[in-house]
Amino acid sequence: MSNAAALLARSVDRPMRFMEVCGTHTVSIFRNGVRSLLPTEISLISGPGCPVCVTSQGEINAAVELARRPGTIVATYGDMLRVPGGSSSLAAERAAGRDVRVVTSAAEALHIAGENPDRETVFLAVGFETTSPATAAVVREAAEKGTSNFSVLCLHKVVPPALQLLASDKELQIDGFLLPGHVSTIIGEAPYRFLSEEYGIACAIAGFEAEDILFGVLELVRQIRTDKPAVRSLYRRAVRPDGNTRALKLLDQVFTASDASWRGLGVIPASGYALREPFRIFDAPGKLGLTVTEAPVPDGCRCGDVLSGLILPPECPLFGTACTPVNPVGPCMVSSEGSCAAHYKYQGSEIL
Ligand code: SF4
Repeated sequence: MSNAAALLARSVDRPMRFMEVCGTHTVSIFRNGVRSLLPTEISLISGPGCPVCVTSQGEINAAVELARRPGTIVATYGDMLRVPGGSSSLAAERAAGRDVRVVTSAAEALHIAGENPDRETVFLAVGFETTSPATAAVVREAAEKGTSNFSVLCLHKVVPPALQLLASDKELQIDGFLLPGHVSTIIGEAPYRFLSEEYGIACAIAGFEAEDILFGVLELVRQIRTDKPAVRSLYRRAVRPDGNTRALKLLDQVFTASDASWRGLGVIPASGYALREPFRIFDAPGKLGLTVTEAPVPDGCRCGDVLSGLILPPECPLFGTACTPVNPVGPCMVSSEGSCAAHYKYQGSEIL
């Protein structure tokens, strides 16, 4: 690791601004004290890489509304429980007696539907390309079994369109992206190429150890210094250039691209998934008459600016006062991969 840090110190000759796109990278950077190893010319900012954090306020409200419906079971990943909606959270609804269950997989949600044939089980499908193939597989399984009491509130997000939005933002001035390793195992390298080809931004796919991240940053510096922006994978042990073709085929079979609402970034064209025929019968809003609408975020919350790299979490006026991990105001303070939670936990105590 010191080798990579020493190489970096010798290589950087101008200010450079890099965004790590993945929440797992954000946490690893804090946990391993990576920032303290970087030359001062390099700024590392966090991006919209935490799936819970980018879930919009309107989507949280819709999940709460589902939980309040009699005869409904809401199955969700644990990180979604404490995210505050406009008037409540799934945790509060559960405390009030609604049937909200924490699952660790989409398959577990389908299993719950099988055990409760007289009630509707709705799976809250959040996450990026990493988790969406598992949702697709379960929807296909539900279709094969003819399950009629299972549906999905599909909140999945697709990463490259969000990167396009950030790349085209003149205010952000991103010189390089540290691309997410997990997402890349599914989509491969090609979907990112527009970043280097159209925007001239350096790109490196990196793993999650401190050394992986440092070598990723070193690769970004190398591309900038040689003026040869490209998409380079340093995570070859997990990422094939064309991704996971079986997972991509499954995604294409079950989903079609749709516009999606990202917290703080707004509606981004073709950045989400909608169920395609014949799987639309599992679409919770369509099946249950639910409308997912835009909704305002809590007063003072700057999650959107944190997610787009415009500010660091401590610059939010609520950070550490009105908003803490015990009493979170926004999802960035709730999620284990949230940038605010990572800053709060590790600030001033980055370790090596
Ligand atoms: S400190 Fe809280 S309110 Fe402020 S941006 Fe972070 S999560 Fe949102």
